Amino acid sequence: MSRYRLQPTPAQEAALAEHCGHARFVWNLAVEQHAHWRPGRKGAPGFAEQCRQLTEARADNPWLAAGSVTVQQQALRDFAQAMAHFFAGTHRQPTWRKAGRHEGFRIIAVKAGDVRHLSRRMGEVKIPKVGWVRFRWSRAVPDGVKSYRVTREACGRWHVAFAAIPEPIPAPGTGEVVGVDRGVAVSAALSTGQLLNVPGLRETEKTRLLRLLRKLARARRGSNRRGKVKQAIAQLRARETDRRKDWIEKTSTGLARRFDMIAVEDLNISNMSRSARGTRAVPGRNVRQKAGLNRGILASGWGRLVTRLEHKAPGRVVKVNPRYTSQTCNVCGHRAAESRESQSRFACAACGHQAHADVNAARNVRDTAAGHAVAARGGPLLGEPANREPQRGRLLVG
Ligand SMILES: [Zn+2]
Repeated sequence: MSRYRLQPTPAQEAALAEHCGHARFVWNLAVEQHAHWRPGRKGAPGFAEQCRQLTEARADNPWLAAGSVTVQQQALRDFAQAMAHFFAGTHRQPTWRKAGRHEGFRIIAVKAGDVRHLSRRMGEVKIPKVGWVRFRWSRAVPDGVKSYRVTREACGRWHVAFAAIPEPIPAPGTGEVVGVDRGVAVSAALSTGQLLNVPGLRETEKTRLLRLLRKLARARRGSNRRGKVKQAIAQLRARETDRRKDWIEKTSTGLARRFDMIAVEDLNISNMSRSARGTRAVPGRNVRQKAGLNRGILASGWGRLVTRLEHKAPGRVVKVNPRYTSQTCNVCGHRAAESRESQSRFACAACGHQAHADVNAARNVRDTAAGHAVAARGGPLLGEPANREPQRGRLLVG
């Protein structure tokens, strides 16, 4: 997804807001239908049935019928997708969308001529029932756009994001494998020893955010002042998100260019994020600890980084089981929980090897992946002897 700033005219803005309203309305209807469902009852309607109901609803409600059927149907499809994610256990159950907070809609079956370049800095996209809407051509629009999503941020900015899977980046052909560990102390550590950090807000911006949050707490509900403070907060948050997304794009491109194989932890982020609190019957363990970790995971956008890597380096991303990668010494292979001295230090209890904890873990991830690759290819990797297990030191250091 590459995001561009939309610049609708006031009239277009009203039409876009209407699309958003319809998408939200249809989505919330779907949520309500599923909320009534209880175990033992007949199943809640699926996508096909909901589409049929939508046709009926459109016949009965002229205001709904006046809107775009694509927008409304896509909202149902998005909902079906969200339910599928929920049943797969990777996401939370879809919830209500609130006006002003979750505004957006999706358009599919985009034709080749529906996105065009106007001038060096300007482009336009054809939106059903709205017409041609201009957007800032801040970077090249990917070829073969199949769908796009229009969103409105809480601060009032409109964006369009075109979905096209990026062109794969050719492997450098050096045979190098890199391990990437999602850190807490740093955003990501590479087995090369490089530590990567997601740029967030600057200190001055953080201070400003804190001050705004305090102001918000004092501002009366529904007051003008409150609205302004909210908008300023939303702007700061949007800046943070932009920086994070930009970092993910640059980092994934860099890794795909520099290394033949990229090893990452196979970690189901959502499951980790979700399980902390537990249920009333089975309260979660380490709730506080995980809450901190959650912030780290979300802040570093790990899931998105892996997805982008898979797009840019298809077939070259290896996911490995992260079990014990943080407790195992990369030099001697000794595994002990006490070797992880602190969040950022690793000191082997057996051989005394010291390293940045995340880098040590990244090297374990790399070596595990190299092992997997050997198994997958049924032969030695990159000319290494087949009995390479005890020779960790001889592995390519990527
Ligand atoms: Zn050791």
